[in-house]
Amino acid sequence: MISAIIPAAGSSLRMNSKINKQFMSIAGQPVLTRSLLPLKDFVDEVIVVARRGEEDLCRECVSGAVKNFQIVLGGRSRQESVYNGLKHCTGEYVMVHDGNRPLVSADLVRRVLSAARKYGAAIPALPVVDTIKKVCGDRVQSTLPRHLLYAVQTPQVFKRSLLWQAYTYARENNIEATDDSALVEAVGHPVYVVQGEMSNVKITTPDDFRWVQDMFRYCRRKGSSAIRTGIGYDVHQLVPGRKLILGGVEIPFAKGLHGHSDADVLIHAIMDALLGAAGLGDIGRHFPDTDPAWAGARSTELLARVVDMLAAKGLHPANIDAIIIAQTPKLSPYVAEMVSVLSGITKLDADCINIKATTTEGLGFLGRGEGIAAQSVCTVEYSREEE
Ligand code: MG
Repeated sequence: MISAIIPAAGSSLRMNSKINKQFMSIAGQPVLTRSLLPLKDFVDEVIVVARRGEEDLCRECVSGAVKNFQIVLGGRSRQESVYNGLKHCTGEYVMVHDGNRPLVSADLVRRVLSAARKYGAAIPALPVVDTIKKVCGDRVQSTLPRHLLYAVQTPQVFKRSLLWQAYTYARENNIEATDDSALVEAVGHPVYVVQGEMSNVKITTPDDFRWVQDMFRYCRRKGSSAIRTGIGYDVHQLVPGRKLILGGVEIPFAKGLHGHSDADVLIHAIMDALLGAAGLGDIGRHFPDTDPAWAGARSTELLARVVDMLAAKGLHPANIDAIIIAQTPKLSPYVAEMVSVLSGITKLDADCINIKATTTEGLGFLGRGEGIAAQSVCTVEYSREEE
């Protein structure tokens, strides 16, 4: 059995932000949640160490990633916080992982874990590429031998009995360290090093945050692009006694479109394209015409809900192209107003929304004026959220 301790009680002094960095959102999910997700298949229990007053925020973030967890209160230092967490661990091995390292890969977790099972203590580290100097004030004191220097990351994994021994020894001897491995080293147990990952950065400064955000945006996972595309198609019947509403604009005409909602065929096609691009199904799934809640609904409001659903996944519309297929009436005089309505809802610039209208030269049911159809292709992309 494996326990994980996530120290999340830090104060984010270097982030210049009111909100603690582990609660800041990256592509729709808090940093803390994202730091836990890569661990969830490897650990049996998670102990998250929170700052007083942030327990509920922590609970919310952690429940989005794992089921079996406890929130415990942190101490004055990272070391004290991990110690508080360690008291609650029951696993044979303990994995300590920073709550602000969301880019750790499952592969790295697996490699550290298997080294720890073999050697009792394992950490990921990377050889430093820059020359490291000891500096006092603005003067160099000495140059350290680079070939011996490694930058250490988390997760670090230890046999629980060993980590407990190390923490007890540190408390008895007033040893303070910035990582757990140092305490294990202090009791003389060898610590095995596995190759870390360049991308496994700890978010400490606003620059780190932006960099990690870009990694999620552009390299989210293998085979996934930051730009996604969806297609939408809809037809409604033209009947007397109904208003004709297209793109949220009421168009004077003898007939209107028949449907459960306001039957705005253009917006329906656009909604389906946006949902499709986001992998969220279709409008039938979210606004079924069997549900009285949507009777007479304004499609502009439904579109606003779709935009919110995208935002919840960290996505926003990037462009909309659509075509209305109608024999009559002539629609070109209304296109600019439709674009303006759509721009208001989607927050897209007007030049990212393109509405076209065509006829079928009198052919088929559309040509006979029995209905109006619309098609749309939309792209969506991952949002850049500013801190
Ligand atoms: Mg429809």
